[in-house]
Amino acid sequence: MDISIDSETRSAVELVRSIGREYLRPLGIEADRSNRPIPADHPFYTMVARSGYMQQGLGGDGAKRARGHAEDHKSAGASPMDGGSEGVKPTGTRAARGSSAVRNVLVAEEGSYWDRGAMVSLPGPGLGGPPVQRMGTPEQRERFLAPFRQREHPVWAAFAMTEPGAGSDVARIATRAVRDGDEWVLTGQKMYSSNSPRAEWVVVFATTDPALGRAGHRAFVVERGTPGFEILRVEHKMGLRAYETATFALDACRVPDGNLLGGDEYYEGSARRGFEGAMSAFNATRPVVAAMAVGIARCALDLAVEVVRDDYPVQGLSRRRRALERLAVARQGVEVARLLCLRAAWMMDNGEPNALAASMAKQYAPPAALAAVEAAAAVLGEAGVLQGSLVEKLARDVKAMDIVEGTQQIQRRVIARHVIGALGTSTEQSSTEQ
Ligand SMILES: Cc1cc2nc3c(=O)[nH]c(=O)nc-3n(C[C@H](O)[C@H](O)[C@H](O)COP(=O)(O)OP(=O)(O)OC[C@H]3O[C@@H](n4cnc5c(N)ncnc54)[C@H](O)[C@@H]3O)c2cc1C
Repeated sequence: MDISIDSETRSAVELVRSIGREYLRPLGIEADRSNRPIPADHPFYTMVARSGYMQQGLGGDGAKRARGHAEDHKSAGASPMDGGSEGVKPTGTRAARGSSAVRNVLVAEEGSYWDRGAMVSLPGPGLGGPPVQRMGTPEQRERFLAPFRQREHPVWAAFAMTEPGAGSDVARIATRAVRDGDEWVLTGQKMYSSNSPRAEWVVVFATTDPALGRAGHRAFVVERGTPGFEILRVEHKMGLRAYETATFALDACRVPDGNLLGGDEYYEGSARRGFEGAMSAFNATRPVVAAMAVGIARCALDLAVEVVRDDYPVQGLSRRRRALERLAVARQGVEVARLLCLRAAWMMDNGEPNALAASMAKQYAPPAALAAVEAAAAVLGEAGVLQGSLVEKLARDVKAMDIVEGTQQIQRRVIARHVIGALGTSTEQSSTEQ
């Protein structure tokens, strides 16, 4: 693995760092205390849009350039492993090839260091971006992603797979898609869809026939204001309160044929193409969510290190030593998690299959981050558990990282399938496995 960071990536990370301290952290804390998301018309979002973040940030233009429709994906050019030393090199040598996945991981980590909830609330295509990039036709990618290139006003998009009866086991989605002339009629309910109340469009996964299992899956872009699309409620979350996570209904919601991602041809190649499209989007988003856990953990560890450095007694060293040992172990776990995220992203940028690497990162990072936050809380002592302390908030925030984009148990099943596959043995496949 030879990760080079191009100038675009560096400037995106620097941009997030500069708004992190000044805006993401205070706004995230305010949303947490008031238990209200940052309002969509907050001037901060206009400022972010004007800064070009929607283009540079998660899922922006660079991602579009590096990845796309199936044909683009095949020709994306798997570059040979360069060999050489492992690590992150601040050079611009990969810029021409694009390094969107690595950039997304680093931006996600940095933003989450300041506040993961506020970070996810930022305008941009968010989780809706990868399915459009990976499944959409060139025309759809242009139509749906172009609004994120303007710098005048904030725009959001969202992703909706989860349903009341289908969380980990996405094969069980029951939202129906019925063709009617040159339209599709969508009927069902989606839940836990982040940023959907303010989204310009939502990628909705539905089935043409639940009896077909994965073969019936199709992805649609449902645009804001489409009759039949109704937000039913915004969930009250234990953490990550800066953004809205909502349940919505699709009540005979009509979308044009042109909003079927990839068009009919996309689904003709393989019976499971729609499902595979969702899974390949997970290959992009799992390392990003894992990196968000890393960012939260880094923040907790920094808080703890500050306390040990400034407040722990230098004489009578045993308490200080125990604290430092604990932090060292936690730090190591977070570093391993970080490398797993970067590896999965690097593989994606280099056209290598990364499903296993993405699941390993997603399986490893959240528990490592949780352990780091716990270690930080222990080192802080009473101050770490007081309501209103930052570490207490981080402990509530980090838990969801284990759930979104597939839980630990699901990632372990994916990893097991790959291991068994490598041994040449078949096994039953279920849930969000590939
Ligand atoms: C903050 C937040 C934001 C979210 N944002 C989005 C979003 O934008 N779009 C979206 O579509 N979804 C979103 N989700 C939903 C998320 O992807 C699901 O919660 C997740 O997939 C788990 O589904 P579930 O909650 O139904 O749990 P279930 O699938 O019911 O799982 C419950 C428990 O059973 C375990 N389990 C399930 N199946 C197996 C198995 N086969 N083997 C072993 N253990 C198993 C799970 O690991 C878990 O511990 C979000 C969730 C949260 C918390």
